[in-house]
Amino acid sequence: MNVALIAHDKKKDLMINFVIAYENILKKHTLFATGTTGKRIMEASSLSVNTFQSGPLGGDQQIGAEIAKGGIDMVIFLRDPMTAQPHEPDIQALIRLCDVHMIPVATNIATGELLIRGLERGDLEWRLYKENLV
Ligand code: PGA
Repeated sequence: MNVALIAHDKKKDLMINFVIAYENILKKHTLFATGTTGKRIMEASSLSVNTFQSGPLGGDQQIGAEIAKGGIDMVIFLRDPMTAQPHEPDIQALIRLCDVHMIPVATNIATGELLIRGLERGDLEWRLYKENLV
């Protein structure tokens, strides 16, 4: 599966802890991330991450474009709900595209854990046949 990981600045430490805790699951999948999140993950773990631009510079939109092309199967986006983001429209657009394309998306760590455990159990195998859904 192709998994996108994004964390706002105040959630980046949480994302690092998350990917370290689930490294054995995540390493079996292809990972994508916005620029700074991806860099931090690679510095802190043995995971390899395909990085896009930093979020405020267009990274969220690049991940949205991958979703539109069918290239992302899951999004874990640890958002900071207490801080205004300059690229809020991009964030909303990314989440909208998840709904358009039926992409499982977690916006906090509690749901993120459920999605990762589901990924390990094979709950997302239906994504392999996603072209039949559109
Ligand atoms: P970043 O972007 O990983 O480059 O910090 C995340 C975001 O703010 O959307």
